Amino acid sequence: MKRKLALVLTLTILFGLLSFAGQGHAAKVRASLPDTAARERRIAEAAEALRAQMIEQRRDFHMHPELSNREERTSRIVAEKLKALGLEEVKTGVGKYGVTALLKGAKPGAVVAVRADMDALPIQETIDVPYKSQTPGVKHACGHDVHTTVQLGVAEILTKMRSEISGTIKFIFQPAEEGPPAGEEGGAALMIKEGALENPRPRAIFGLHTWPEAEAGQVVYQSGAAMASSDKFHITIRGKRSHGAQPQQGIDAVVVAAECVIALQTIRSRRIDMTEPLVISIGIIQGGNRFNILADEVKLEGTMRTLNEEVRARAKQLMKETLTGITSAYGATSELKFEENAAVTFNEPQLVEETLPTLRRVLKEANVKSIKPMMIAEDFAYYQRVIPGFYYFLGVGNRSKGITAALHTAEFDVDEESLVVGAKVMSNVLLDYLDRQAVSK
Ligand SMILES: [Zn+2]
Ligand SMILES: [Zn+2]
Repeated sequence: MKRKLALVLTLTILFGLLSFAGQGHAAKVRASLPDTAARERRIAEAAEALRAQMIEQRRDFHMHPELSNREERTSRIVAEKLKALGLEEVKTGVGKYGVTALLKGAKPGAVVAVRADMDALPIQETIDVPYKSQTPGVKHACGHDVHTTVQLGVAEILTKMRSEISGTIKFIFQPAEEGPPAGEEGGAALMIKEGALENPRPRAIFGLHTWPEAEAGQVVYQSGAAMASSDKFHITIRGKRSHGAQPQQGIDAVVVAAECVIALQTIRSRRIDMTEPLVISIGIIQGGNRFNILADEVKLEGTMRTLNEEVRARAKQLMKETLTGITSAYGATSELKFEENAAVTFNEPQLVEETLPTLRRVLKEANVKSIKPMMIAEDFAYYQRVIPGFYYFLGVGNRSKGITAALHTAEFDVDEESLVVGAKVMSNVLLDYLDRQAVSK
């Protein structure tokens, strides 16, 4: 009994000492950390000072938009700027026109990554602004000109604060977010394949996207599933040609395709949990070449979106089974091919929780709101498959100035005030993240 008591006492003292030592370390690290409020003020001043330069830079990118995997000029400007700022290990040609670079803080610590995409869209700009796209049929209609500019702004602000940075920031400038041209690889997946997340491997990754439904000065976000997985699918249904007046001699691929179109919708309505978002949409159906001949082949193309990787896998399986079942009942055959466009963008809830105080502090509580997940897709998801990540939306709208057009439209524009806001917010997010890692080491 006594020995047991002694053992308990010893363990208690030992545990106390250990946790005291632990607190000692944390307290020491905390004491060596910069005063967050003062640092935030300096970041705000630095972002303000860059206002004119960032506006000019964004307008330059906007006037010279480049399509996915063709970001030669943008990428060159980015790399030159990073070198001029004195970032370390500026690598070009990572995943075609991708650029990565390191900003090493003066103090040891974790590695955190931040990503911006650089490509534009095949859309003819219709707004009449001084910085209108100079390339016919191509426009920065998804705000990637803003993303690239903000991230260059962050690099510039933080290179001047090296002495107070605990750890390393890896900057990733990515091409082809909108998807590489047919037959080419590209985007986040290719950059990862070519080592963007290695040497050194970041512990987490952050990114932002313009969002016209929120006003400049605001940030909106989701915790958990944020954006959908996106799979393009191609279906080929093969039957047998015959005279339109003698259908019994053929296998009518048009009738079979019609049944398949309807049946595929029942996967959503009858086979998958109603609380799980899923959409299967067929956008193209093509077949036949004459009014009185039964088509022997019909091709369909569509997109499937989910917010859950298990639902995604299950729906793919059900599509295959449904098509096989229906076509075989008619004596036809089918082929189904998937082209993966993006995985589910999943914001690690703990990382979101830890980051929210920073967003609220910098922007004021009322300007940070959570929103519902969306069925649009984003290839940032590929980084989040490797490391935890948080992808949030930067408000770029301004109702009073009439800036309200949606992403991917010919009229899309941003309130350039968002450049200053974005640079300020992201700089704080990254430094606060590194501080937390230093404390919890
Ligand atoms: Zn887009
Ligand atoms: Zn985009």
